Amino acid sequence: MAWISFPDLKPTYFVKEALFSLAAAVGKPLHLDMATINKTRPSCARVKVQVNLLFDFPKYVEMEIINEMTMETRMERVKIQYDMLPKYCKQCKVQGHEEETCRSLHPELRQIEINKDKDIIQEQKGSNNEEQGNEFATTGRRVIKRH
Ligand SMILES: [Zn+2]
Repeated sequence: MAWISFPDLKPTYFVKEALFSLAAAVGKPLHLDMATINKTRPSCARVKVQVNLLFDFPKYVEMEIINEMTMETRMERVKIQYDMLPKYCKQCKVQGHEEETCRSLHPELRQIEINKDKDIIQEQKGSNNEEQGNEFATTGRRVIKRH
């Protein structure tokens, strides 16, 4: 079970049917939270979903919007935010950590644990891609890059 939010949602989506079809991209929609039902928090809608932790969780849902006047369709991206998703590692098949912080998938994280008292963590050779930096950023690790 997890709560997902749709931040900055357009008012047109602020009905149960629309929110449930958005949430279906993640799992089985169960119910809306009170603020969403009563529309007391128009900036953000929340839906409780039954999720399968083995699935990948999309960051966006693509919605096809049909203009009934012209019958033209366009795609709209709706951002999904995960509020209380239990951490689950598909590699180790245990709860408590994710693949991003998995030490059997990322042996270099052990290195960072060892070096965490130091302020400067040396980048590994040939791994100066941004992706790795972002990965650490999302797991809350402090990475100081040398220039
Ligand atoms: Zn793991």
